[in-house]
Amino acid sequence: MILKLGGVRVRLWLATALPAMLVIALLVVGFASQYGGRMAEALKDRGAASARQLGSAAEFSLFAGDREALARLAEAALRSDVQLRGVIIYNAQGQVKAAAGQMRAPSPRLDGAIQIVQTKDALVVAQPIYSTQSMLQDDVYGPVAGAPEGFRATENRLLGYAVVEMSLEALAQQRRDLLIWSLATAVGGLMLAGVMASVLADLVSVQIGRINHVVQRVGEGQLDERVDVERSGILRPLATGINAMVARIATTQEELQQQITQATQELRDQKDAAELAARTDSLTGVASRRAFSEAAEAEMQRALRYRSELSLLMMDLDHFKVVNDTHGHVTGDAVLVSFAQTVQQLVRKVDLVARLGGEEFVVLLPNITADQATALAERIREAVYNSHLLVDGQPLQFSVSIGVAQFDRRELSLTGWLARADAALYQAKAQGRNRVVLEMSEV
Ligand code: GH3
Ligand code: MG
Ligand code: MG
Repeated sequence: MILKLGGVRVRLWLATALPAMLVIALLVVGFASQYGGRMAEALKDRGAASARQLGSAAEFSLFAGDREALARLAEAALRSDVQLRGVIIYNAQGQVKAAAGQMRAPSPRLDGAIQIVQTKDALVVAQPIYSTQSMLQDDVYGPVAGAPEGFRATENRLLGYAVVEMSLEALAQQRRDLLIWSLATAVGGLMLAGVMASVLADLVSVQIGRINHVVQRVGEGQLDERVDVERSGILRPLATGINAMVARIATTQEELQQQITQATQELRDQKDAAELAARTDSLTGVASRRAFSEAAEAEMQRALRYRSELSLLMMDLDHFKVVNDTHGHVTGDAVLVSFAQTVQQLVRKVDLVARLGGEEFVVLLPNITADQATALAERIREAVYNSHLLVDGQPLQFSVSIGVAQFDRRELSLTGWLARADAALYQAKAQGRNRVVLEMSEV
């Protein structure tokens, strides 16, 4: 999981720059339309004022037909405003009486009303010139000098037109300047936003990078990793949260590990106990039939491989039913325990004493010949017969019959071997009990 820091940078830049761009765009559009509109209005007013001024100045000369004066007026009007490009004074019939400068736009309709025509690069104003009564006749001093003789002026007679053309190039230039200025401001603002976003992104991405590293390490199982909270800046709460989370995970994992270890140990103990129970006779503490079978098979293999001696004693307590019947089952159990102890004391460590069931026991004797085994069996028989177990203060005598059988390499079966020992035991019983019989198969 690798965080794309470049992506963060671009997104932060957009987040910072987009609102700035929007605000600037709104400002530019609003300002340009307002300012541009007002400038156009102002220019129209100026054009109308120039035409009106020229009209009223030219009124008398037009009336008098003084072309020279009209030409001077036109020149003066042209000079009065740098944005004026051309000036024409028409008479009422639409004939040019004076002109100055250059008219580029087509002449507007001359119909007695004010005309304002705007083309792509020019604004043309046609101002009709009307005579006024005061100009034709002075009420106090009589007719005005220069007025045609016998002429009685009618009020507001149309004398002609003052037409001015204003160049819109300056206006367009101003608009262009405004646009360039606005664009420059916008670009500057964006660059500033970009720098700020970059600085912010660097700051945040370094912190995110640190947190990312820790999260990655924790993911790999390094639960002792922690984020440096002091250096996490604005991401401090996130860093603190992640540290708390990792600490919790570590504790939980430790607890789980402990529980698992404990449970595993308990299972192992239970298994050991179960195994021991399966391999031990619970009453007498000697080996079980299963443990004996396994040990016997192993010893048979060993005897085969090393051609070593191996013998077996099969033992059965005599008239045990009578012991039970006479003294009770508990005493019977005590006799079994006592018997097992006596046998155990007489055998070597390598020998295995086992209880096959009831009052029947075996002893597995590695490296022991049939004669040695018979001698041991005799010692056992004697010791058992002489071990007087005290029952209610009275000594109880009991005896054992023992069949001895040597392992026969040709036989290869535990069952057969046991059967031979059993047969020898049967003979011992048959011969009057409390005796040892060596099976005679090899003889
Ligand atoms: P024999 O001399 O022919 O062996 O006679 P016996 O009475 O010993 O043989 P039998 O098989 O007739 O009787 C064995 C008795 O052992 C019968 C049974 O109640 C008793 N027995 C078997 N297991 C136990 C045990 O764990 N505890 C006790 N107290 N008695 C047992
Ligand atoms: Mg018996
Ligand atoms: Mg028996």
